Amino acid sequence: MINLTGQIAIVTGAARGIGAAIAFKLARAGCDLVISDIDAPGASAIAEKIKEMGQDAIAMQADVSTWSQAELLLKESVAKFAKVDILVNNAGITRDNLLMRMSDAEWDSVMAVNLKGTFNCIKAAARTMMKQRRGKIINIASVVGVIGNAGQANYAASKAGIIGLTKSVAKEFGARNIQVNAIAPGYIQTDMTKDLPDSAKEAFLTIIPLQRAGQTEDVANAVLFLVSPLSDYITGQVLHVDGGMVM
Ligand code: NAP
Repeated sequence: MINLTGQIAIVTGAARGIGAAIAFKLARAGCDLVISDIDAPGASAIAEKIKEMGQDAIAMQADVSTWSQAELLLKESVAKFAKVDILVNNAGITRDNLLMRMSDAEWDSVMAVNLKGTFNCIKAAARTMMKQRRGKIINIASVVGVIGNAGQANYAASKAGIIGLTKSVAKEFGARNIQVNAIAPGYIQTDMTKDLPDSAKEAFLTIIPLQRAGQTEDVANAVLFLVSPLSDYITGQVLHVDGGMVM
């Protein structure tokens, strides 16, 4: 049983899906939470549920793609809880299209939220974590960032960027006892994937050795391991949570 009592975790994009599952998992392990999302009512609803579980939680509306909002997110979190032990960069979007049809807006928005948003939040949290000489940063990438995907050049590039960012920051922050790792989920059942055509869902299942779609809980379990003391000697790694799809 992993016990994180007294630790403070910030999860971005935590109003639903994988982010909400991560927040609940960390709360059950004893963390107090900052539930951050661009969706303010959604974030508040999750924070309320966490308080009902007996942990402290605040909701913070923040668009991670904007530096000033990431900076404010960290400032208000530290004002409330006096420290930050865990940052989970989970906020992410898709704007799928074939490259020849992809607009500048589709490219730019995905890079801004997924890659720049991760950079912004790491940079905003770094000062506090460096002073503390401890911290765990988890960046949610994707298997698509490793193997690519037709129709997702923007998304795949942003997730591949997150992997490079993770490894670089792990090298920069290691001396300060800050572990930085990425998780690469495969096909996970959330709102993001519910509108995939049935043919695409079936195609995924044929390449997943464990022969099922992943659940948000599967990703949250991996996050719990990577923020716990069980992973204190692990940094700069990409943990695939994909039923064996990519190996
Ligand atoms: P989701 O259900 O779409 O949830 C994403 C959350 O992020 C939403 O609450 C969304 O708010 C929020 N968000 C969007 N833009 C934001 C911004 N600029 N700033 C802050 N929050 C923002 O997605 P999910 O499936 O849980 O995915 C979570 C993460 O896992 C993403 O990084 C995704 O790329 C990654 N991932 C997912 C899968 C999968 O199969 N589902 C696979 C690999 C990786 P709104 O609802 O208002 O947009």
